[in-house]
Amino acid sequence: MKKIYLYGNWKMYKGIEQSENFINDLGEYMEDNSWLRQMLKNDRLEIGLFPSFTSLASAQKVLTSTGLDKMNVHIGSQNFYYEEKGAFTGEVSWSMLNEINCNSSLIGHSERRHIFGESDEMISQKLRSALSNGIIPVLCCGETLEERENGETERVVARQISTSLQDLDNNKSVVENIIYAYEPVWAIGTGRSAMPEDAEDVCRYTRKCISSVLGEKYSGNAKILYGGSVKSSNAESLLNQPDIDGVLVGGASLQVDSFLDIVKSFA
Ligand code: PEP
Repeated sequence: MKKIYLYGNWKMYKGIEQSENFINDLGEYMEDNSWLRQMLKNDRLEIGLFPSFTSLASAQKVLTSTGLDKMNVHIGSQNFYYEEKGAFTGEVSWSMLNEINCNSSLIGHSERRHIFGESDEMISQKLRSALSNGIIPVLCCGETLEERENGETERVVARQISTSLQDLDNNKSVVENIIYAYEPVWAIGTGRSAMPEDAEDVCRYTRKCISSVLGEKYSGNAKILYGGSVKSSNAESLLNQPDIDGVLVGGASLQVDSFLDIVKSFA
């Protein structure tokens, strides 16, 4: 059975207390549900939680105090800036993430691209910076509804993936760390998930794009997540697709039950 990656993007929800409560509740859920303990212990499941910046340090502390950090559960940030320090008002650097032992980050989430205007080039710089500075990048890509309707999905995904990956130091230990997330913009937060076969087609194509820049050696084992209105009722058929290794979840990740229900059928 393949390992499943279950990542929760809390966006601009949950302050410090709510983030801590979630992690404590997750610990209790694990005590009561041996299926979850077994999946994590046997490395059949990895959980990633992506709280807001202000909650990161305390979430990390609770993760450590509950021992969940040793159980295949980790905390990541939703974004970061690629410079170490400087006159970049409002930004948080990779070195600040290193300081709180936060070693993973989303990069190029569609809300960063489309609301905050992050370009492919900026995302590429973030990817490089993450790989050089001990941050595991979760590189997001995906087309808008207009692009899909114009038949441009593959062109957009190819551009986003190749701009990010080109000229990377083709060093196995670094490049292998990248996690990819295909998230069609029209499916995020809309309640309208992609059909499993459509999601599979684009994830397979994403693998092909990775192969054409980095080579098959890296694309075969690349972890590709699908994101966009994933919930327990549609997760199983998505996760059963051969090129989908996990899911990046927004809305349904906000409650412990709805989040873990996503993988329950794989226990
Ligand atoms: C996301 O934020 O990456 C996401 C996929 O959100 P949702 O699950 O709410 O569509």
